[in-house]
Amino acid sequence: MRIVMIGSGYVGLVSGACFADFGHDVICVDKDADKIAKLKAGGIPIYEPGLDDLVVRNAASGRLSFTTDLAGAVTQADVVFIGVGTPSRRGDGHADLSYVYGAAREIAAALQGFTVIVTKSTVPVGTGDEVERIIRETNPAAEFAVASNPEFLREGAAIEDFKHPDRIVIGIEDERARGPMEEVYRPLYLNKAPLLFTRRRTSELIKYAANAFLAMKITFINEIADLCEKVGADVQEVSRGIGLDNRIGAKFLHAGPGYGGSCFPKDTLALMKTAQDHDSPIRLIEATVAVNDQRKRAMARKVLTAVGGSVRGRTVAVLGLTFKPNTDDMRDAPSLSIIQALQDAGATIRAYDPEGMAAARPLLKDVHYADSAYDAAEGAHAAVIVTEWDAFRALDLPRLKTIMAQPVLVDLRNVYPPEKVEAEGFRYVSVGRPSDADLAGNVDASPRQAA
Ligand code: NAD
Repeated sequence: MRIVMIGSGYVGLVSGACFADFGHDVICVDKDADKIAKLKAGGIPIYEPGLDDLVVRNAASGRLSFTTDLAGAVTQADVVFIGVGTPSRRGDGHADLSYVYGAAREIAAALQGFTVIVTKSTVPVGTGDEVERIIRETNPAAEFAVASNPEFLREGAAIEDFKHPDRIVIGIEDERARGPMEEVYRPLYLNKAPLLFTRRRTSELIKYAANAFLAMKITFINEIADLCEKVGADVQEVSRGIGLDNRIGAKFLHAGPGYGGSCFPKDTLALMKTAQDHDSPIRLIEATVAVNDQRKRAMARKVLTAVGGSVRGRTVAVLGLTFKPNTDDMRDAPSLSIIQALQDAGATIRAYDPEGMAAARPLLKDVHYADSAYDAAEGAHAAVIVTEWDAFRALDLPRLKTIMAQPVLVDLRNVYPPEKVEAEGFRYVSVGRPSDADLAGNVDASPRQAA
């Protein structure tokens, strides 16, 4: 199959490289000339484990190439994927579809022969209908079908996810799209990955419903963690206790600083808006969005409490900036709101992240970017683990204690056992796990009775 991928970002580049690895001929297109120049020169514009090898190998084989010339690429394609960004629209939280529709217009003008156009971007229900209308209006003679094929990969494990997906969802309205889509995914189908064909609008909604559910699950355990702190229970054991129930499942039950990243914040908001527009509000998602928004500032207050009530004139070491480990993606990372709140409260910030500092620099002002976790902790009144990079999982605690102004560790990812850190002489605060000090007197030990 001759595949064209419009948009060569986290999704487009990974999908394009994996399709090429399956044996298809793939052209990745981007309007960002710097990105394409870097890819042509053998560089990788993002950090994603394993992606450099995959791209270099498939480019060398001649199956994967890069261009800014959308029209030239589309002319020869059997299937054109749209994998451009769909960020939140400024002001109202709806998905900004201008990149998708812009790409559709450009594709339409270049179509030759029957072509399947597929939205891989996360798009609200009805977007496929509009893409179809735009293409017909721009090029009435074009022979085409529009399909929906949302992507479920996770940054940090993107190649593994793409090659071993739980399912592949494909929404079609025109039966002519079925054969080419089966052919595109045939290598995975042979691996027994379920190929779920459905209608286009259903497929579009499946993606939002999946992300909203996961965001809700995270938010649920975060609120349970808050309650654990009040009543002297341990959220990790609660997670294990409920997650072993097959109906619930163990994943996405890790309490932390609130979800962030390039998908959950914008997708929950977009689903909430779509539902409100259709007079069918999803109150669970409205609550999820509100609870998660408040949580990041609450995490900053946790730091304030840990250092004795105020960070004014004090230094806080922030360990981890990206929204999760193994990516350089800073979009909507919890660190952004937490650092802003700490700076507002008068703290000086020293930060370190193994891969995210280049992307963080334009977003976070007045931060000292350190060379390592220890460099960040130098002279700090508290060290805060915001992202659970492996580099922070086995810190040399005695060394940390000697270089910090005071031994306070706030672990927003519950990486360490409390006893271990406290035994090293630290004041240790985590999420949903009261410390021995709390249990000795501060938690509300008596069950509340209704009056
Ligand atoms: P991204 O910002 O990393 O990449 C988008 C790319 O599209 C950019 O490089 C941009 O220059 C390019 N682009 C925009 N308009 C273009 C045009 N007309 N022609 C050519 N290139 C164009 O975005 P992303 O993270 O890859 O996300 C893409 C879509 O996939 C979004 O809808 C997102 O919600 C969805 N998605 C993302 C993830 C993820 O983990 N990042 C996972 C699943 C789904």
